[in-house]
This record gives sequence, structure tokens and C-alpha cells, in this order.
Amino acid sequence: MTNYDTVILDIEGTITPITFVKETLFPYVTSGLSAFLDRTWETDELKKQIELLREQAKKDVDAKMEQAVIIPTESEASAEQIKSAVIETISWQMKADRKIGALKSFQGYMWKEGYESGVLRGVVYDDVVPALDQWKAAGKKIYIYSSGSVPAQKLLVGYSTKGDLMSYFSGYFDTAVGLKTESASYKNIAQQIGKENDTKSILFVTDNINEIFAATEAGYQVVISDRPGNAPLGPESKQFKIVTSFKQI
Ligand SMILES: [Mg+2]
Repeated sequence: MTNYDTVILDIEGTITPITFVKETLFPYVTSGLSAFLDRTWETDELKKQIELLREQAKKDVDAKMEQAVIIPTESEASAEQIKSAVIETISWQMKADRKIGALKSFQGYMWKEGYESGVLRGVVYDDVVPALDQWKAAGKKIYIYSSGSVPAQKLLVGYSTKGDLMSYFSGYFDTAVGLKTESASYKNIAQQIGKENDTKSILFVTDNINEIFAATEAGYQVVISDRPGNAPLGPESKQFKIVTSFKQI
């Protein structure tokens, strides 16, 4: 690697175990949903979240998606009927791993309560904070780019097992800048942080080889994060630097 003054980090499989998302965050939503709806039923925020799901459900029914169900309004149905439609909607969308705004927004809304109440803590690997300290001391800027929504990213690093890490980060990016497997997204980020003519001074760390290719195409330097539980790396990853700890970067 040559000199870099900017570091962009992926979350899952890079600073956080993939199992935290699959075994903690997602089950928190699926197993707690019914009680959460009962608890927050009268709040304006929940009404807003359900309206987003309702609009999405309408589109899905129009698109003839098999599992899509209409979420009735309060004038059309009882609270119990609305709740059960919401549960059905979230359950099939999560099983299908849909990356849609309404679902992400709802998950983030539930996670917020979990993090703020101390039930959830974002798991961050032990070697991450020492690296953040070193980068910060060296005057490097540090950003996050993850397909989880920006609010969900902030919760994870703000309420982490290593404390509130938000002061380390100069900014957060999600798929609003584009998909992580497209080089245009990395060019877009570079532009937003004033580095469009200097992408080679950016280091991007991720576990996903397609993201590595996309960032490389945009001129970034890259490092592959190989953590326990990550998908196995194929032979095409051998041409890049691979680390199992941030100590090796
Ligand atoms: Mg990842």
C-alpha cells in the first residue's frame, strides 16, 4: 500500500461479525415485533413507519408479488388486523432479505429502542478501536460505507461493545450513494468528501470481493477483511492484501 489519508470501512464482516446481524439484530426484530407493536401502537412515529410499509405493500401487490399483503388503514380494519398484516409483511420481506427502504426504516426504528434501552450493543472486534486511534492520531479521516441504513450504522457504532465510537467518524454512507458493488458509488463518495481527483489516497476495507473490485475500479486502495464466519474467499482475492485483524493493515 502507498500513503492514504482517508479510510472507509465496511461494517458487517469487517468491523462487526456477520453473526451479530444474523443472530442478534434480525431475530430482535422478528421475535420482538408483536410486543413492540403493542407497546408503541399509539405513537406517531409508529404510524409513520406503518404508512411507509403500507405504500410499499401496495406497490408489491400491484407488482403481483406472491406474498405481498395489503396493510389496511385504521378506518378499514381493527388494530389487531392491521398488526397482523404488518407482522406478515415484515416477516416475508425479512425472509426474502429485501433491501427496501420501508423495511430498513422499520428495523432501524425497532433497533433504536433496543440500543437505547441497553438490550442491544453493536459488536465491534477488539482490534478495531486501536486502529481507529492510530488513524485519528495520524490525521486520517475515517468514514463508514455499509448497506445498512445510515441511522442503523450510527446506532451500531454509537452503542457498541467498545462504547460510543461516533467521534471517530467523519461521515456515513449507505446505498443512497449507490450499490456497494458498483464503482460509480465509490466515485460518488469520493466526490462528496472532496477526493474525486485523489481516490488513490483512500483506503477501503471490506470482506466482499465484488466491493473490492468496484472500489479498485474507482481508483481506491483496498484491503480485504477475512473474519471468522465470513464467506470463504475465492482465488480471485489472492491479488489483494488480506487481513484477519486491523493490526495487519
Ligand atoms: Mg461486509
